[in-house]
Amino acid sequence: QYRGLAGRSTHEVLQLYSARGQQQKLQRSSVVVQLHGVIKRLKQDLKSLRSCTLQLSKDFQRQSKTYLYQVLTAVQGIQLQNEAMQMFQIKAFDLEQSLQEVTERYEKEKQKRRALHNSLIELRGNIRVHCRIRPLLPFDTAAGHSISQDRQRNFSEEVAYAADDETVLVKCSRPGHAPTNKSFQFERVYSASESQDTVFADVAPLLTSLLDGYNVCIMAYGQTGSGKTYTMLGPQSEENFAFFTEDESELGIIPRATQEVFRLISEKPPGSYWVEVSVVEVYNNDIFDLLAKDSCGKVFGVKRDVVTTREGKSDVPLLTHETVENASEFLHLVNKGLQLRVRHPTLVHAHSSRSHLVVTLTITTIVSGDNFGTSWEDEQTSQRLNKEVSCTFPQKMRDSKSTSSSRASSPTQLEATEKPKQFKTRLQLVDLAGSECVGMSGVTGTALRETSFINRSLSALADVLGAIAEQRSHVPYRNSKLTHLLQDSVGGDAKLLVMLCISPDQKYLTESMQSLGFGTRARQVQRGQVKKKNFPVPSKAK
Ligand code: ADP
Ligand code: MG
Repeated sequence: QYRGLAGRSTHEVLQLYSARGQQQKLQRSSVVVQLHGVIKRLKQDLKSLRSCTLQLSKDFQRQSKTYLYQVLTAVQGIQLQNEAMQMFQIKAFDLEQSLQEVTERYEKEKQKRRALHNSLIELRGNIRVHCRIRPLLPFDTAAGHSISQDRQRNFSEEVAYAADDETVLVKCSRPGHAPTNKSFQFERVYSASESQDTVFADVAPLLTSLLDGYNVCIMAYGQTGSGKTYTMLGPQSEENFAFFTEDESELGIIPRATQEVFRLISEKPPGSYWVEVSVVEVYNNDIFDLLAKDSCGKVFGVKRDVVTTREGKSDVPLLTHETVENASEFLHLVNKGLQLRVRHPTLVHAHSSRSHLVVTLTITTIVSGDNFGTSWEDEQTSQRLNKEVSCTFPQKMRDSKSTSSSRASSPTQLEATEKPKQFKTRLQLVDLAGSECVGMSGVTGTALRETSFINRSLSALADVLGAIAEQRSHVPYRNSKLTHLLQDSVGGDAKLLVMLCISPDQKYLTESMQSLGFGTRARQVQRGQVKKKNFPVPSKAK
């Protein structure tokens, strides 16, 4: 800078300096101007940045408020749900408790019901007699029926009828005598118009007793043609002695009772009951097993015998018992037995009314050690069952064919305290042979034998009922195969229903009076029972 000043005058130097100063000043001021512009832009940016930030923070605040609100709502919702859940839990607990209470009450009511039901049945008597009068039918006027010719008339007159539902009225008129009316009282009298439904409605309560642990027997008594088979099985076709009806309302007591038994069982815990069936015919004091099969599985009638076991019960060794799981299996099986009843050569007899048919349902109940005491709370029942319990495992249920003897020998012995116990109750359904008093004179050969066997077995039945009525220490069950076979469902605390069947027509008057007489004598048993209730006897007293 200074090199250029050499040789220059002061004035020139000063001029030079001032020119340079001016230049620098100009440069500086332009820089300042530029800086100013920059600062101005910066200020503007800052301003817009600030407003952006402001906006952002406002947005942030707004949004966070929204989110906070949402979170709060969610939390509240969860709290509400929690509370509701707790309420539900409390309610569920309450419900569980009340269910338990109801279950306990139900159990108690069930036990009370069982005790009451039994008292009711006992008050009615362990033996009751019902009487059914069938309608007049076309064959009553036709000739050639089993009644002897001298008593055949070509018109029919109704002489027996139901005066009310407990009284039978019989118009007795003899030539030369003024007509008299005789009346007979029974627990229930069915008029000719009363249906199979109505008859069964009075039978059904006995089946409740069956599942409560009592043996039950229902038998139809009456002369040939009085409606025994109709009442017990239903209408029959000429060639087919079976459940021939298509119309369910016509079915008799046997199929209906089986349906009812399976219905009652379906209300119980599954697997606690099972049912076996046997079908026998008592013909000329011989017992025929109608379900026995030969080695090829073909059904044929086999003669069996009835014995008394060491426990004093009646038993038919080797008798075929088939397990059935529903009513239709039962009907199929009994149908097979009934077919045989008319087909088999050893069982030849002119009419099904010449033999007694006994269909037995054996119900085995399995009671586990735990509920043995509770489900049979009725002391009397429990004690009785405890006596009868056989501590064995059930044989496999679908091991369908078994016999008394195989059942007695095969089951595994168990400790009585822990293992399931089983006991058996029996329902015996009997279609008795015709009770007509056919005179022996003039009857020969097969008919004579048949008649004398029928007479003997029916009078043995009357003797047994008489002995029970008089509470005799010895009841002559063994006087006939029929009474021996029915021993356990006629005596003791078993429930017996005798269904007297009566033809209303004048020409059957003698037979009808005989049947009504039998029924009246059987009713004495009931009176005996009522007396027993008034003067408690140890075995009955609670
Ligand atoms: P049993 O077995 O006593 O010899 P059945 O039951 O075979 O007599 O009856 C004889 C006839 O009378 C049959 O044709 C039957 O259908 C009919 N019968 C019996 N009772 C009635 C009734 N209550 N209603 C209609 N028909 C009946
Ligand atoms: Mg019959």
